[in-house]
Amino acid sequence: MAEIVEKSPSQRPPIEWSTAIMFVLTTLAAITLVPWYGLVEGYSTTAWVTALVLWIYCGTAIGSGYHRLWSHRTYKAHWALRVFYALGGALALQNSALNWCARHRVHHRHVDIEDKDPHSIKLGFWHAHMGWMLRDHECARANYGNVPDLKNDPIVMWQHRNYWSLTWFMNLGVPAIIGWIAGDLWGVILLGGVLRLVVNHQVTFFINSLAHMWGKQPYSDESTARDNWFLAMITFGEGYHNFHHTFQADYRNGVRWWQIDWNKWFLNGVRLVGLGWDFKKTPRFRVLRAKLAMDFINARKRLTEEATDASWKETLDREYQQFLETVKAFQELQKGRVQSARQSLRERWEANSLRTRMKELEYSLKMQRKRVSLLTAALSTG
Ligand SMILES: [Zn+2]
Ligand SMILES: [Zn+2]
Repeated sequence: MAEIVEKSPSQRPPIEWSTAIMFVLTTLAAITLVPWYGLVEGYSTTAWVTALVLWIYCGTAIGSGYHRLWSHRTYKAHWALRVFYALGGALALQNSALNWCARHRVHHRHVDIEDKDPHSIKLGFWHAHMGWMLRDHECARANYGNVPDLKNDPIVMWQHRNYWSLTWFMNLGVPAIIGWIAGDLWGVILLGGVLRLVVNHQVTFFINSLAHMWGKQPYSDESTARDNWFLAMITFGEGYHNFHHTFQADYRNGVRWWQIDWNKWFLNGVRLVGLGWDFKKTPRFRVLRAKLAMDFINARKRLTEEATDASWKETLDREYQQFLETVKAFQELQKGRVQSARQSLRERWEANSLRTRMKELEYSLKMQRKRVSLLTAALSTG
């Protein structure tokens, strides 16, 4: 029988006191000072508006900047936008971009592996949420070998060198200046500084904890990452975590136009005004293929659970065969497209007919998804 080895307190990595004290003090202030001041003095409209604007700023700097630009390089950005992200990242108090991205790339590479993923969900909700930051775990130490590209970004390095002064300025200086001008110094510091910081911390940490536990897996079940629209709503779009772990090079996390992904919309705006370019998108066919592969996995599970008659299995196998053929046909077409990249008239015509054929194959996958979902529904009722 396998023995569960519980680590004794002396074997655990040492506590990160400065991080722990920062979390305790900010959280305590948010749950005591903030309501107390509200009851005794009341908050001005400026204080509320500042908190909201700075919260959105933090979420955008982390989501569009730290995450989609610097960690995953899903687009290229003008220096002014990178400065905007560097300041917003300091405001979010989530470490310098260099440290954040070095760890985040390891999370993707070794997701779910207990002693390699910096915040593996396999060690429980608390560890993935905040516990991993409170002790000096070896796998959570930033390895700058992972971020050679970022070391060449002067704005990232400027932020890294001046991280603490920027953090104090953004978290205390900016709210204090706004509060002083508006005549509500403490109100703006408490709502726009403290409460906004704590709320932003907690919702960001949900991505490492809840988004690996709670939600659907429409694109892949190879990791614990989940898509969750509610988390997406409070994390500016980062809650579509199953899509993100499956297609990390895509600048979108909510790939469907209706999915609530604030950072995707922000980046569409960035492209429109010319502050970002070379945005990467996963081809529709690959997205459809991933979804259909998951549909087959789910249908098969249902088939064995329900032990339904053999004809269902045959139907499913036939559908699966067709799926493989469609994928193969698409891959061959793509090869052809790469070869005919030159632009004579005849080749342009060919490229166009290739495109039409690709669209047809895409459509065939879409129709097949409908059939497989009907099949799954039939299996669960019969
Ligand atoms: Zn990521
Ligand atoms: Zn993750």
